[in-house]
Amino acid sequence: MEKTKHYYLTPLMAGWIEDLVNNKELLNRALKQYESPINIHCINNFQSNVHSYSHVLSSYGLRHKIYYARKANKCLVFPLTSWQINQGIDTASYREVKQCLDAGIPADSIVCTAAVKNRKLLEMLVQNQVEIVLDNEDEMKLLQEVCENLAIEANVILRLSGFVKQNKLLKSRFGFRLDDAYSIITERIGKGKEFSYFRYYGLHFHLNGYDAEERAIALYQSGELVERLHQVGIKTKSLDMGGGFLMNYLANEQEWNNFNDALKEAVLGDLNPITYGNDGLGLILNEGKLLGKIDVYPYYNKVNKENLLKTILETRFNDQPLYHFLKNLNLEIRMEPGRSLLDQCGITVAKVAFRKRDTENNLLIGLEMNRTQLRSSSADFLVDPLHLTNSDAPGDGQVEGYLVGAYCLEQEHILKRKILFKSMPQVGDLFVFVNTAGYMMHFYESEAHLFPLAKNLIYDSGTKVIVED
Ligand SMILES: *Cc1c(COP(=O)(O)O)cnc(C)c1O
Repeated sequence: MEKTKHYYLTPLMAGWIEDLVNNKELLNRALKQYESPINIHCINNFQSNVHSYSHVLSSYGLRHKIYYARKANKCLVFPLTSWQINQGIDTASYREVKQCLDAGIPADSIVCTAAVKNRKLLEMLVQNQVEIVLDNEDEMKLLQEVCENLAIEANVILRLSGFVKQNKLLKSRFGFRLDDAYSIITERIGKGKEFSYFRYYGLHFHLNGYDAEERAIALYQSGELVERLHQVGIKTKSLDMGGGFLMNYLANEQEWNNFNDALKEAVLGDLNPITYGNDGLGLILNEGKLLGKIDVYPYYNKVNKENLLKTILETRFNDQPLYHFLKNLNLEIRMEPGRSLLDQCGITVAKVAFRKRDTENNLLIGLEMNRTQLRSSSADFLVDPLHLTNSDAPGDGQVEGYLVGAYCLEQEHILKRKILFKSMPQVGDLFVFVNTAGYMMHFYESEAHLFPLAKNLIYDSGTKVIVED
């Protein structure tokens, strides 16, 4: 076996995060008041993230509106900020919509893409005239019934799927195939027809994964549908490309590549484990061969956010750039980024409760938090945590170990990756997880064992004050 070497994954950090990390007193006070762990947010980068998308769309002459997908984070401050800077909010549940309306966000800045829409949600959407993104025929029938009962019409947008890339269908559980959408819009929606209370407004898609070319293809094929509808006199007012814009968490591409290579070697047994129990994060060793693939979010992305949007819009179809084709459709281009608008907008901070060795002599650092408070669909959060020691005399030298949490499960690891601590963590020290606002802190958090959910706090980088969301 090769000598153990550590594989760092250094996070990118916005100025406000560096300020806070250097203000241990403020963090300690917040933890004392709100208990570990806490989520701290700041809107500075949210605003700049929105502006950078908006700037790209403007630069191509595209009329647009950006709908922040609020399912990626529970705080109200982000939908409010999005509206205050003249953009919109994509909502996915009754309470997400209700909260926005109660906070004074006007209905015309909200769109609802909920995957399941029951009668109660549809009634609220219709009564408030929130645009509804339709997914299936049963939903359409229920909406027609709700509209009839209330005698109010609804603005509807059809979610599309079934795009074709190189003769291959992009699979999806969502939306209507393009041809079905055409016949629904031309034959079944409008006065005197089956869905007489619907006003056709626009088209929408949201693709799984992060492929730029797939997004370009979906925009182009949706645009072709817009043209077909136009030929029979039906106007489409908006075309929404959904979310899924990659962001970048890491400062260093080489570190990312090294980690990925090292994980494979470790799983093959050519290197000491760099994850707990030599977890392959999706890779499996089978008769000396690696199967599967590393099943994590791609935390390093050279082309990300607005540059990815540019790549999409500059993709060429029939010898013209996509933005040119879209501009000629003369409609509002929409997008619904969630995660990427929250880039550099939040951190999670937790306190060290204990240190111990497991039966295999691994060092375990127990945090006052649980793994649902730092969890997405990715097999691990591959970003180094920051260790802030409260001790005047930190333990001598670096140590390797794992962060574990409060749920009574053997697999209760906050991070599966082995972490190199610059000194032995002490009880009461803090760990800061950087860039957790998009999904990591909220999407899977649970109250098992009746642990309360982490408090959501907002940091004002000007006054340096932390308040509750
Ligand atoms: C989840 C979702 C988004 C946001 O996706 P991100 O990957 O966070 O950008 C946007 N629109 C719809 C319909 C979604 O389901």
